[in-house]
Parts: sequence; C-alpha cells; structure tokens
Amino acid sequence: MLQAGCGMLEKLLAADSGYRGPRVPCGQGHEAEFVSYRDKVIDTVLGPVTFTRAWYHCAACRHGLAPRDAELEVAGASLSPGLGAMNDRAAAAGPFAGAAGLLEDLAGVRLTAKRVERAAEASGAAQAAAVRERSGLVTSRKVVPLPPSPVPDKLYAVIYAAWVVMPNRPALARVCAAERACGPLSSSA
Ligand SMILES: [Zn+2]
Repeated sequence: MLQAGCGMLEKLLAADSGYRGPRVPCGQGHEAEFVSYRDKVIDTVLGPVTFTRAWYHCAACRHGLAPRDAELEVAGASLSPGLGAMNDRAAAAGPFAGAAGLLEDLAGVRLTAKRVERAAEASGAAQAAAVRERSGLVTSRKVVPLPPSPVPDKLYAVIYAAWVVMPNRPALARVCAAERACGPLSSSA
C-alpha cells in the first residue's frame, strides 16, 4: 500500500520539471541561471521518493537552488513537510533514538537518531527565526496584531531581566523608572 502511494507521489512530482525559465531570482537580488535537471530524494510518510527538478546557479552568491524545492517546502531538507511535522512531535516526546523507533513503529518510516535530531533542530531553528521575524515586524509597527476576541478582563505580564553592566546613567535611570512602574526587576549574577 505504502509502495503504491510512493509510486503515485513520484508520478505527481514528475508532472512538473521545476523549470521556471532560463533565469530566476536567487533571493539575494541577483539572477540564477538554469544549469541542468538534478535528482533529489526526500523521505515522506509514504517512504523515500525521488524526483527530478531544474537546478539553477547564482554566480554572484556561488550558490545553487531549485525553485521547485522551495515550492514543495523541501529546500535544504531531506524530509517532506508532513514527515517533518511527525518527526517534530516524536522528537519532542523523548530521546531522539526513541523518536526514531516511534516513527518506525507508527508509520513504518526508518530514520537514524541523528537524522531525527538534525531535522528536529532545523525545524526548531526555523520556527524560532519565524517568531523573531514576526516579533520584529510587531515592534517596528509594520504589523499590528489584532486583539484577541473576546478581550480578556485581566492580563498578567512576566518580565525576565538579565542584569547587565550599564556605565551610563540614562540607561540606569530607565531601569529605575521601569522598576518604579513594574516593581523590582530581578537580577542574577
Ligand atoms: Zn545570488
């Protein structure tokens, strides 16, 4: 059954070669040129799947890319988004070796503990970067989050402050002002 699913998925992926013209934006302000078609193997919840897609190279960045990989959300990854999400859940539940066993028992997918670890860490780093980017947009007021509905009656704020050396008085004054407003800021050596 899984093999049949794998075969169908490969046929679906083969329907698009990933060729997006002789040149595509590289993402850093340059144009990457089409080089050739290259194979990529990704592990999916149905098993390993191979597909061929157009490969481009940016001379300025000295970096290669496949637009199709980005469209399929597998750029720089060897797990499909679906298997990646399963891997994240399994890796969050316990040691990586146990997570690899869980994936094999429940989904029949064999990954080494090292691959489980690498994929979970890459996923965590990507999610942290997305949160930082969103926070940056909110603090720079480029994005205004909508208030929750219904609006809660009471909000609790938790402030974590790392004590740093502040030689200038204005910065110290700002901390004192914050303490007056919010109560003592905890310090740790
Ligand atoms: Zn470039």
